Parts: sequence; structure tokens; C-alpha cells
Amino acid sequence: MKSDIRVCSAWDAEHDGPVYTLSDSCPECGADAVNSAPAPFDPTDPHGEYRRSLKRRNRT
Ligand SMILES: [Zn+2]
Repeated sequence: MKSDIRVCSAWDAEHDGPVYTLSDSCPECGADAVNSAPAPFDPTDPHGEYRRSLKRRNRT
């Protein structure tokens, strides 16, 4: 199922952390809110991909 959750496109500059919203714009700074799915990282786990690749490597 496709998620409708969006994230402030300017959160890195405007906020201390990602600001999520269900609307088209950030409720805090008014910047465009973009779909969070294609984000190159998981804000709650910045090194998740790195850790996952390590875990894969260690498991083999
Ligand atoms: Zn914002």
C-alpha cells in the first residue's frame, strides 16, 4: 500500500529533524512536502542501510 505520508522538503535547513505531514506543504515552515518514500535514507535510522549491508555480509 502506498503511503501518503510526506516529509518537509526543507527540513534539513528549517527544522532539527524531519517534519512529517499528510498535506502538500509543511505545517511548520510552509515548504513543499514531498513523498517520504523515495528518500535516500530513513531519518529514524540514518545508518540503517549501512548496518543492514554489514549484517548481510557478516551472516554469509
Ligand atoms: Zn518545514
